[in-house]
Amino acid sequence: MSDPLENTPVVIAGFPASEGIAKGRVHHVAWSVPQVPSRTTAGKKAGNRELERFRAALDWARGRLEVLKGETETRLGVVEARIFDPQLLMLDDPEVVEGTQRYIRENRLTAARAFEWRMLELKERWSRTTHPMVLDRLNDLQDLKSRVLGRLLDLPNPRHMESASGVVAVARNLTPSLVARLEPDRVVAIATGEGSRTSHWAILARSLQIPAAVGLGHIVDRTRDGQTIIVNGSSGRVVIAPDADETERFERRRSAIRDWRQAAVDPVDSAAAPESHQITLRANLDLPREAGRAKEHGAEGVGLFRTEFLVVGRREMPGEDEQYRAYRAVARSFPAQPVLIRIFDLGGDKFPVFLRAPFEENPLLGRRGVRVCADEPELFLTQLKAILRAAVHGDIRIMLPMVNSVGEVEVVRELLETARSDLRQTGIPFRDDVKVGAMIETPAAALNADCLAPHVDFFSLGTNDLVQYTLAVDRTNTRLAHLYDPLHPAVLRLISMVARTGRETGIEVSACGEMAGRPAGAVALAGLGVEVLSVAWHSLPEIRGLLRGHPIEDLRAAAAAAMEAATRAQARRILAEALGGMADPGLFPFES
Ligand code: PEP
Ligand code: MG
Repeated sequence: MSDPLENTPVVIAGFPASEGIAKGRVHHVAWSVPQVPSRTTAGKKAGNRELERFRAALDWARGRLEVLKGETETRLGVVEARIFDPQLLMLDDPEVVEGTQRYIRENRLTAARAFEWRMLELKERWSRTTHPMVLDRLNDLQDLKSRVLGRLLDLPNPRHMESASGVVAVARNLTPSLVARLEPDRVVAIATGEGSRTSHWAILARSLQIPAAVGLGHIVDRTRDGQTIIVNGSSGRVVIAPDADETERFERRRSAIRDWRQAAVDPVDSAAAPESHQITLRANLDLPREAGRAKEHGAEGVGLFRTEFLVVGRREMPGEDEQYRAYRAVARSFPAQPVLIRIFDLGGDKFPVFLRAPFEENPLLGRRGVRVCADEPELFLTQLKAILRAAVHGDIRIMLPMVNSVGEVEVVRELLETARSDLRQTGIPFRDDVKVGAMIETPAAALNADCLAPHVDFFSLGTNDLVQYTLAVDRTNTRLAHLYDPLHPAVLRLISMVARTGRETGIEVSACGEMAGRPAGAVALAGLGVEVLSVAWHSLPEIRGLLRGHPIEDLRAAAAAAMEAATRAQARRILAEALGGMADPGLFPFES
């Protein structure tokens, strides 16, 4: 009997986690936590032996992780290597170590059984959340658990992902240790049922330039080893068993991306943009070393330098000098162009271990973004000092996340004043007149942009959050992905208001959310009057090619009509028409 899945393409809409598009054969990556036989120990001597075995297994795991960390540092860099720190921290965590030892001593369990119990308890405790940061910690915990149990049970190491070339790694979820060892020549893409863009393994995938889509639900059950699959890591769209149409669409898209890339490095072509159509394209950076790639792909500055990489998995606050070097490195790549450094955007889906994050019923509506500044002055003062020092090397600007009101800007301005006076006293060179801007990420900020404008030097639309808060749709909730729509007319109207305020008050309005990096989103933003778009370096050639191919008047007309549309389907149709023959589903954000 023929397999019904064989010739019927199945499309799954997930979330983008690592940019790029690829086609390959499914390779299921099954990693599981070993089964532990139920055994107890007899007598104190046996208990002591188990305690000894447990300590030895922890030491062994620490050694393995250090090796992996060292390899990752050599291969990718120091920031990527730090991704293994949370697991190393867990090896010293009294909750893990003492809890297990207590079960060995008091309940007379074997080391393996006691450790399994303890980890199950922690998992149970941490699982009562949908907080992606905690879920990632949970994933780290599973990674560590299988490593330690494998040692205690003397199992061969099953974790090596052997693979032929041209494969797509498909899994329920992955771990940093699995991804750190992937070879991009062989593994062309990743598709997982769970995970998020901030998952530790996804950060590694981006660094390895392996496209990845996450949040694909039951992708493992819906695929078979060897089946053809297309993964669009820029939109999150995955096609299982593509038919001729989908394959042709993929080929077209891939060759368009190749052409756009070529155009980006072609000096003749780069002069071809009509005068009327000068949209500035900057790059979003998650890591300092992406600056080089951004530059090669024609970025005209950095529109968003996320600085959270400095706190991932850290036990202590990052120091001023370390930060200064990271910011200076990026400024040196763009000495004459703006580099917008966003101060730590903590809370919501990202909280470092060294700050005690209070339990939040609803973290996305909790203590996050600029709100954290007032509570953690030391952390932000250090960061501001590092930024002011680095600003000597370029046009560095300071960007504030999640601003809702003027008072929040004032808190940072006061900290800046303290930073300046501290630096003055030490005699360290710094730049005095650094610009300060607000991200527009909430409807309140968009509606009140005219009140904020006199207090800042620029606005940057953080559409990822703006969409989430405007539509009341959690951006990390895969079950609501179909409702998360940057092209919703309500979102378009807010964007248009902010662009108008920018024009009227003479301050720059840029956009740095994912929307700017998707064709339909970029067209809408440009048409609504946003003149600076900041996108992942990978998307720069595509967005540039697209904008050059469409007169700005057409984009303005389409965006104005889309904004007035009664439904989001209508808005999308209007923008698709403006994109002409290029309109295919992959062009739209988060849509199947
Ligand atoms: C945004 O919200 O659009 C944004 C750029 O910030 P982040 O995705 O880091 O929240
Ligand atoms: Mg944001």
